[in-house]
Amino acid sequence: MARVEPATSELTYPFWEATREHRYLVQWCTSCATPIFYPREACPWCLASDTLEWKESNGEGIVHAVSVQYRPGNPAMNEQVPYVVALVELDAGADNATIRVMSNVVNCDPEHVRIGDEVSLVWELLTDGRNLPLFEPASDSTGRSRTDPSTTASRHPAKETQ
Ligand SMILES: [Zn+2]
Repeated sequence: MARVEPATSELTYPFWEATREHRYLVQWCTSCATPIFYPREACPWCLASDTLEWKESNGEGIVHAVSVQYRPGNPAMNEQVPYVVALVELDAGADNATIRVMSNVVNCDPEHVRIGDEVSLVWELLTDGRNLPLFEPASDSTGRSRTDPSTTASRHPAKETQ
């Protein structure tokens, strides 16, 4: 499907390389023990630049804000309307901290995504082998039908069966 493919920079190179392995890295400042999103050259709180490192998110998030786009914001998204644009509170990889990331929620009815919904990372392959992080309803959310298993291959398996 057509997509706007994000550019990389020296700063975001580790993030994008990790997406090739379906890993979502969050930048942290180890000096003030705070996650930083989006990645910066220096910590926006303590201004340290030599204490930045990457931690891996567990891929679990909560919908903080959501809207459904019926008209594409970009012509490359023409085939995808209606689609969900959401602000997701994503696990930041440590200390139960989260970052807020703007993304799409896919593999569900766009009208049924609500604030507070649990979502999980899912990956869409880009043309150069990187993957774009998107979200889908979490497998243990209630009252929601699961989607085509072929689109969920990257997810961890369901925890238990009743
Ligand atoms: Zn800091």
